[in-house]
Amino acid sequence: MERIYVAVRARPLSPEESKTSPWRISGNSVYLHNQPTKFDFDRVFGEDSKTVDIFEARTKEIVASVVRGFNGTVFAYGQTSSGKTYTMRGSVKEPGIIPLSVHELFCSIEKEMGREFLVRMSYMEIYNEEINDLLAPEHRKLQIHESLERGIYVDGLKEEIVTSPDQVLELVEFGESHRHIGETNMNVYSSRSHTIFRMFVESRERIEEGDSINCFDAVRVSTLNLVDLAGSERVVKTGAEGLRLKEGSHINKSLLTLGTVIKKLSDGVESQGGHVPYRDSKLTRILQAALGGNANTAIICNITLSQIHADETKSSLLFASRAL
Ligand code: ADP
Ligand code: MG
Repeated sequence: MERIYVAVRARPLSPEESKTSPWRISGNSVYLHNQPTKFDFDRVFGEDSKTVDIFEARTKEIVASVVRGFNGTVFAYGQTSSGKTYTMRGSVKEPGIIPLSVHELFCSIEKEMGREFLVRMSYMEIYNEEINDLLAPEHRKLQIHESLERGIYVDGLKEEIVTSPDQVLELVEFGESHRHIGETNMNVYSSRSHTIFRMFVESRERIEEGDSINCFDAVRVSTLNLVDLAGSERVVKTGAEGLRLKEGSHINKSLLTLGTVIKKLSDGVESQGGHVPYRDSKLTRILQAALGGNANTAIICNITLSQIHADETKSSLLFASRAL
């Protein structure tokens, strides 16, 4: 695997948030005022940054490599309300990483005159270590299976064949409108679940009529995974009990496992034949094939510069810097 790319994005402060900030951004580093603490990243995007710039910095290349047959994954990490969903899905004014990637993917495919493509998409959430299909809301608690033919897959997950960006984005909207919403003191349901948007890209060389069919021309198969992670805030803050505590501990466990997996991958443990604990969470198990091997991975760590979020921001920056 190539080195993991790690970017940080600070969202603009909301009008209610105090403008005093303990943080300072300089170049691609984030500092705490009056302290030697300094975090360095591949890129740091400040409050006035645009999602399209974040997309062009790395995701665009990842999409291009998916079209060439390599797996790619982009994660949005950060506490609730740090801007993960804004970055991934975007707003009316500013398209997010998902719509930008979908357009780019179809554009790149059109330019590949020599190959023919089949594109499918799936959209799922992992809530409380249960996998739910957002494209087929009746498909709940799906299981992960593995076979020689299909590799690791979510059994029963709908994979819709798609032929245009608009069709994909309509399916994402459909998926969002069917989410089951719960509540806690501080968080809403969506902040407790991981969302995995996945595009499967299959291609083979175009064979002109009259050409002899070359059986050795393998089909290329790769996936693009755009993941909006659950909020990284510690569960104690929400005053959670019972079910909520269970949800919270699952989230912490799967984010913790993700952190361990990413750290091991970036240390080259897998290429040296070492153990990477993909099986310790559903999230990492589903993404196993996409993260290991010849894959490209990026993390966009979303932060808030406000004083009241200083502790959470610090732990997000620590998580992100461990992935480098
Ligand atoms: P998260 O998904 O991490 O919980 P959201 O993406 O929902 O956070 O963002 C929280 C709020 O901040 C939303 O109202 C969102 O529109 C706003 N927001 C986040 N990032 C930006 C940004 N870069 N520019 C403008 N508004 C933003
Ligand atoms: Mg969100």
